Amino acid sequence: MLSIGLILPDVLGTYGDDGNALVLRQRARMRGIDAEIHKIHLGDPVPDSLDLYCLGGGEDTAQILAAEHLLSDGGLQRAAAKGTPVLGICAGLQVLGWSFRAGGRVVDGVGLIDATTIALEKRAIGEVQSTPTGAGITAELTEPLTGFENHMGATILGPDAQPLGRVTRGVGNTDVYGADEVAADRSQLSAEGVVQGNVVCTYMHGPALARNPQLADLLLAKAMGIPLMELAPLDLEVVEKLRRERLA
Ligand code: GLN
Repeated sequence: MLSIGLILPDVLGTYGDDGNALVLRQRARMRGIDAEIHKIHLGDPVPDSLDLYCLGGGEDTAQILAAEHLLSDGGLQRAAAKGTPVLGICAGLQVLGWSFRAGGRVVDGVGLIDATTIALEKRAIGEVQSTPTGAGITAELTEPLTGFENHMGATILGPDAQPLGRVTRGVGNTDVYGADEVAADRSQLSAEGVVQGNVVCTYMHGPALARNPQLADLLLAKAMGIPLMELAPLDLEVVEKLRRERLA
């Protein structure tokens, strides 16, 4: 049984990001792999024994509650330390970094990724596309990534984090430079998302895994400890149609 943890859908669930867990469960089941979703709500302890974790986007004040809960609980950090894959979307990405700005202050994040979120010059809203970098555990990704972004946060990556993709449309992580030398690296401007260890993050809503089935399968494969190519392909015309439409 593959256990998919849906972390704090009550505060991190904008734009139907809960759908990422549904996509993972469905793509597993279509291959005859038993899978279930464990919803972990605000105040619930996060079990560190699940096979895969998903965090969605959220409003500024809601994501403060998420960060505080995850920091004090520690379960997600223990799971990540064991090498369990974690997917973070938008506010989920920001919460997994060192810090983010919300409610007029700097809020501590969980620190699973070497990323700091400051503010964009202008809110990023619209379609976003990228070419996967193939960094770290995403080495097997070949298909362009597509999603919808809506964020005010500007995420600057530190040296331990790599982008998930290079932006070909939209804004991605940031439109500003950070304050220090690392952050002044111009390549930050084309970065989209984060890959660090077994943590994969993106600003893409959609939900991202409905629009990017290869990324969904990569996460399933990592959760099962097998290479992506060992998962039988699923030819779903409706998903291909969606991708053709969005990437056009
Ligand atoms: N509140 C965050 C921001 O505006 C994240 C938004 C989101 O998850 N869509 O940057």
